[in-house]
Amino acid sequence: MNKIYLDNAATTPLAPEVLEVMTASLREEFGNPSSIHAFGRRSRAAVERARRTVADLLHCMPGDIVFTSGGTEADNMALVCGVRDRGVQHLITSPVEHHAIELTAHELAHRGTVQVHWVRLHADGRADLDHLEELLAAHPRALVSLMHANNEVGTRNDLQAIGTLCRRHGAIFHSDTVQTMGHYAFDLRSLPVDMLSASAHKFHGPKGVGFLYLGQEQVLRPMIQGGSQERNRRGGTENVAGIVGLAKAMELAYDDLAGHERHVRGLKDHMAARLRAEVPGVGFNGDIGPDSLYTVLSVRFPDDGKAEMLIYHLDIEGIACSGGSACSSGSNAGSHVIAALYPEARGANLRFSFSRYTTRAEIDRTVEVLKKVLEVPSPQAARATV
Ligand code: PLP
Repeated sequence: MNKIYLDNAATTPLAPEVLEVMTASLREEFGNPSSIHAFGRRSRAAVERARRTVADLLHCMPGDIVFTSGGTEADNMALVCGVRDRGVQHLITSPVEHHAIELTAHELAHRGTVQVHWVRLHADGRADLDHLEELLAAHPRALVSLMHANNEVGTRNDLQAIGTLCRRHGAIFHSDTVQTMGHYAFDLRSLPVDMLSASAHKFHGPKGVGFLYLGQEQVLRPMIQGGSQERNRRGGTENVAGIVGLAKAMELAYDDLAGHERHVRGLKDHMAARLRAEVPGVGFNGDIGPDSLYTVLSVRFPDDGKAEMLIYHLDIEGIACSGGSACSSGSNAGSHVIAALYPEARGANLRFSFSRYTTRAEIDRTVEVLKKVLEVPSPQAARATV
């Protein structure tokens, strides 16, 4: 039985081309990039080539990219250093952000460093921009952190609109783009954002490496103290092979972005349509329309006593998906996103998330297995019982 992987929002498989460049880098670029000898210079050149690749794809300067250990570190750095170094007294964010933002915001508030304001949300999880504008008007020069797309329900915020409001009120705008980097185009010459977080393992790169985009005016001191790496913005010897892999994964992702989106959105729409037509009582969390994150479909199955075991039954059948987010993989207990958006909802929430490697046949098999597990009667059997 071929296994089916539908948990790409948790992490994606490494692209074979990425494995290839990383293997060569691990073998050959072992010098410390800070060393001045030839071995070091070779590694330094690899890191700087990767930085330029990322910057070119995003239309920013190489110096705007700070490599980190992943999305969590980039999110923490944006908030902790943004508040500390930019004289920020008010942080505006939302209750459905990833824990890397949400818990950092709570921690900063707890330390008394900043006052946190939680922006109201529409029913699908989008930030209410009227409320954001009220908060910005009341607290000028705030730091705003609102994610581009929600990792659990796939609802997407309009970065252009949010950034424009932030500019109007002199606020700094950070966005967690961990689920959208490598899946959407970003033109940082015109997009009004100051900081973006990204993570390679969400776009077929390696785990443990990501970056923070820091716009020209965002002069931040390091969160991790140590050597003078990353132009004095992050201490620690660079993860050379990881950075090389990240850049290769970005190149591949942006090589045919429109083709990937067409393919993956087709799968999402197909799965949603089949579930709606064939599984009684099924519902969807967040936005599933054309503006939603095309890689994520969050499904609510009726609470019939069997549904909660769905994830385990699917696993037995070789199908991987998740309940809520990866941090609550295996159950939907503790999903602060579902709790914030649907406090009254009953049922089992399963997140199916796709990649450019997912096939239509895999979606069809998953729907059939779901129907079997949920004991949905076949049309013939349903007719026979009438
Ligand atoms: N932000 C979002 C929206 C995510 O989905 C994730 C990962 O699940 C992260 C941040 C954390 O990224 P990383 O796993 O690279 O630390």
